[in-house]
Order: sequence, then structure tokens, then C-alpha cells
Amino acid sequence: MKNRDVERLYSKYIMNTYTHLPISLARGKGSRVWDLEQNEYLDLFPGWGVSILGHSPSKVVSHIRNQAGKIIHISNNYYNHLQAKLAQKIVKIAQIDSKVFFCNSGAEANEGAFKLARLYGSGKRYKIITMNDSFHGRTLASLSATGQEKYKECFGPLLEGFMHVPFNDFEALKMSVDDETVAIMLELVQGEGGVNVANYDYIQKIKKLCSERDLLFIADEVQTGMGRTGKWFAYQNFDIEPDIVTLAKGIGGGVPMGAVFAKDRVADCIKPGMHASTFGGSPIVCKAALAVIDTIMSKNLLNNVNNLSKYLKGRLSDLKARYDLVSDIRGVGFMIGMEVKDKGREIFEGCVANGLLINLTHGNILRFLPALNIKKKDIDKAIVILDRVLKEV
Ligand code: PLP
Repeated sequence: MKNRDVERLYSKYIMNTYTHLPISLARGKGSRVWDLEQNEYLDLFPGWGVSILGHSPSKVVSHIRNQAGKIIHISNNYYNHLQAKLAQKIVKIAQIDSKVFFCNSGAEANEGAFKLARLYGSGKRYKIITMNDSFHGRTLASLSATGQEKYKECFGPLLEGFMHVPFNDFEALKMSVDDETVAIMLELVQGEGGVNVANYDYIQKIKKLCSERDLLFIADEVQTGMGRTGKWFAYQNFDIEPDIVTLAKGIGGGVPMGAVFAKDRVADCIKPGMHASTFGGSPIVCKAALAVIDTIMSKNLLNNVNNLSKYLKGRLSDLKARYDLVSDIRGVGFMIGMEVKDKGREIFEGCVANGLLINLTHGNILRFLPALNIKKKDIDKAIVILDRVLKEV
């Protein structure tokens, strides 16, 4: 099969929900992927941030293989020792006394957070304040929470009870809290919204407001979690403890998994029958997720992120100094954005044509979410390609 054959099948049989690059990826290892025609690409946006250890990391692969031969799925009405072990590990790295619920995606994790918040509000408080330019997923509730109108067109009426305020503007946030507000939800580094980093003081003020008004602080760590920002969770860069944290993307190292964890006083509001997910936390995905955490720990990958993030940002800043087109380099850890004044699409497509996979958001922000274990020489190679493309455009 060739790339074009797949494209033809898609046009007949697959719903037209995504824009596509004309590449059919068939194989991957680390930060490299190959398409059906054996073209090789360097992937600095592996699996939209999901493949946090690169493609097919060996420990995750061997855990999945091994578990598949034992048992793949069990109902959540039986105890699952792998789910218990994984939850214990997550609570340990979170350093928050909390309990975990497992599901399958970021939007589903956020749905769990909304339900927990409403339960905590005991039917009297239900409003959740989120930020402009946020992205929380595509289900109707997470879309209602999302602070970008373009995703909502044609899908109204959306769910009541979500308010949006400008990001990094504490006064606007404070003004919009009323007696029905139960929670404030944000991404500590907005990903899809353009790699916008929350100010440290702003987060401290929100945390204080939450304590004063008994509001829940919900951190959407679907993209920032699992070491992406150089700490296990982005909130650890801000010295705070959220009340609820949502996870997905990297947690399973490529297999579909989401999770929400909440401080005990919030988690304990939930009772059997109030929430569930048939596939959530099945043995095979828990085994993969255990391998992800073990690998990040044993290979000291948080250090790798912190060291190479400085290096990557430095190399991108060199490009900024040389090309007037580049207006900003920002981000935390391995969540980095390069803003350009113009020609974002041409640069993005030029990178792909030259064998470098990255992402473009808002038409002018090139995004990099490299695997936590990427090598320095791969960063150097990416910079050579980017340099060439910037020169050409
Ligand atoms: N929240 C954030 C911060 C995200 O970046 C995303 C996806 O990009 C989501 C939620 C939705 O996750 P999913 O696509 O797994 O539902």
C-alpha cells in the first residue's frame, strides 16, 4: 500500500473530521517514524504529545506484550491490582493525598472533574470559570469549558455553567466569581491556545482566592502532565496543590488512558454508581502506564527535559536572533512554542517536506512537544532543518 491508497480509502470510509498531511505513518521507534513508503521523519510532536517516551518504547512494549497474554480487560466491578498499583504511584509522584479515577481520554478526564466539582457544590454551586484560549476537549461539557469559540460553532446549545475570563488576568477572574461558583479550571501552560505560560503570582492569587471562597482549583494537566514540563506535573513548578488534576496523553505512553485525581475531601464526595467508564484502567493500559512511570524514574528523564529544554530554547533563540520572521520563543520544559510574524503554514509544511514533524497552532505558533527521552543530536538535526526552511521561506 502507498500513502495515496490510504488517502483514497479515507475519503470514502473515514469521517472527514481531521485535516491530514499526505503521509501514512506505519512504524516508529523513539523520535523517528516511517511512512508506508519508507520515508523517514524526525518527530518533535510525537502523537500530539501522547508518545511521551517516543514511539514504541521498549519497556512499554514488553509490558503490553506480557500483559496481553495474561488478561487484557476486566470489569471495574472486580479489583484490579495493576490499577491499584498505578494509582498508588500517581498519588506518590503527585505528592497530594488524593484518589484516582481512570478513564480513556483527556475530555473524559475533564468530564470527571466537572462532575466532581458539581458534587462538591452539593447542587447549590455549579459554575466553573475557565480561561479564554483554553482547550479542554471535544465532548459537549469539555467543549463548553473550552475558551475558544471556533470549536463551538454549530454545536449549541452548550452546557450551562461555564464562564470564561482572560488568561493571566486575576482581577477579571475575581470579578466573575459569584455565590454559585464552585471551581476555577485552567491549563498552567495553555497548549493548543498557543503555548501561553501562567504567571507565577497569578496562580498564587488564584490559590488564595480558592481557599478564601472554598473554590476548587482544577488543573487540566492533560498535556502538561507526566513530566512534560520538567516536573511530574506542571503545578509543581508553581508550588501549589490543585484540588483536582486531569491527565491523559502521555500517561499511557501511547495507549489510550485518561485519569482524574482529586484531594480526598473532594474524591470522597463520589459514591458507587455516580460515575464509571467501561474501559477505564484496564490491566493492559495500567501495565503500560506503570512502564511509563518506571522509565521516567529509572532513566532520570525529568533531568533530561530540564537540560535539553534549555538547549532547545537556546537553539531556537539563535534562530530568532537571525530571522526577523521569528517573533517569540516561549514555553516550559518540553512544551515549547515558536511564534512567527507570518508564513507559519509555509514553515510548517517546509519542515514536513524536509522530514521534520512539528505542529502549527493559530496559524503562527510552531509547537514542539518532543519525547522526554529525545537525544541532543536529534534536536541539532531539527534545528538544521528549521534553519534551512526559515532561509527558504
Ligand atoms: N485538555 C487539554 C489541555 C488538551 O490539550 C487536550 C487535547 O489536546 C484535551 C484536554 C482533550 O484531550 P482528548 O483529545 O484526549 O480528549
